Amino acid sequence: MVTAEQLEIRDLARSFAEGEMRPHAEAWDAARAIDDGVFAKLAELGFLGMLVPEAYGGLDFDVVTYLLVLEELAWGDAAVTLAVAIHNGPVVDVLLNHGSEAQKSLWLPRLASGEDLGAFALSEPEAGSDPAGMVTAAERRADGWVLRGTKRWVTNGARAGVVVVFARTGPDAIGAFLVEPGTPGYREGRRERTLGLRASETVSVELDDVAVGDEALLGEPGEGLHYALQALDTGRAGIAAQAVGIARSAFEHATAYALERRQFGRALADFGATQMKLAEMHRRIAGARSLTHEAGTVLQETRTGARPRTGPEGVTALAAGAKLAASEAATWVADEAIQIFGGYGYMRDYPVERLLRDAKGTEIYEGTNEMMRHVIAREVLRAARSG
Ligand SMILES: Cc1cc2nc3c(=O)[nH]c(=O)nc-3n(C[C@H](O)[C@H](O)[C@H](O)COP(=O)(O)OP(=O)(O)OC[C@H]3O[C@@H](n4cnc5c(N)ncnc54)[C@H](O)[C@@H]3O)c2cc1C
Repeated sequence: MVTAEQLEIRDLARSFAEGEMRPHAEAWDAARAIDDGVFAKLAELGFLGMLVPEAYGGLDFDVVTYLLVLEELAWGDAAVTLAVAIHNGPVVDVLLNHGSEAQKSLWLPRLASGEDLGAFALSEPEAGSDPAGMVTAAERRADGWVLRGTKRWVTNGARAGVVVVFARTGPDAIGAFLVEPGTPGYREGRRERTLGLRASETVSVELDDVAVGDEALLGEPGEGLHYALQALDTGRAGIAAQAVGIARSAFEHATAYALERRQFGRALADFGATQMKLAEMHRRIAGARSLTHEAGTVLQETRTGARPRTGPEGVTALAAGAKLAASEAATWVADEAIQIFGGYGYMRDYPVERLLRDAKGTEIYEGTNEMMRHVIAREVLRAARSG
């Protein structure tokens, strides 16, 4: 059940999305750029420190409140929300769970205040679904590490103040490092030209002998992949909420258009075929939202140690399931919204084509939907096999 306090925070996010994001979404998409001011305003509201404890300057929201906010922001603009979700999600998660006190005291207040945006550099040109196949290397030196390799599709990579870089510390070991983009040898590569989320700044990163001190290593040098996968549970719940927000936006546009547009002397909404589409959209969105909030509830219990992460009822399976359901719902709903708009839906002048382009991304990043099915099957079968 959502509490009155959670609804109040959701409403704050809703009015921010309505006033500060939605009116600009089309222009940001066309310009392939986000107005910097929106991050400052998000920071003012505390929305860049949603899962950061108060002791480090954050709002310390419970996970469901965080997901409620993300849905609203994504309803306003999905590209800004991707930046916000990666920053608040996997970046904060990995620091909070595996950072030393010195690392947390240094970085969490800077992330929560918006002084620095965070990025998460796991994928590589030849290692996406299989991050264990990464080749970026971290070579041990007397006073730290030297990182060498290429990271691909780093969201926020162009404006981040800190990037969590995963690199091989040995033949069977991967470490996680906190890297400041200003460090010599860190070079932003090309800005990707994407189907949707065009305003999102997704870049390649070249690590050309980037020397970092011991204080850059998060936790144990061989545990980085484990940390990344754990952080992606939080990340995937966030992407599920983002997808629900995109779907809801498409649904609302389609409903309004169906009431307004007339053919054969009647509103489209009077045709049974349109009504069935709207009903199916509503059902899929409501189902996706329920799963997303269930994953959020379980994630919250996992954070406080009250639940194991694994197994069919664990957050790893539930967050994967929520992202799978919500991303498929978003793509399907946006596609049907275009159909309801007819020829106008196919035009750039109306928002639904952008929403379909944006929705498709949620089926791919933070793990493709094929990998989400794989994760769920693994969790279910492992529990069944161990009896
Ligand atoms: C907009 C955007 C933003 C992103 N942001 C980030 C970011 O901030 N940080 C980051 O690290 N990465 C980021 N990514 C990368 C993203 O996580 C990867 O693209 C994704 O994990 C898939 O990897 P890949 O592209 O290499 O595809 P591949 O792994 O090559 O997969 C290609 C296809 O094969 C399928 N496939 C692969 N293996 C299997 C299997 N075992 N069984 C069945 N099917 C399989 C996949 O599902 C997919 O359909 C981003 C990507 C996009 C598009």
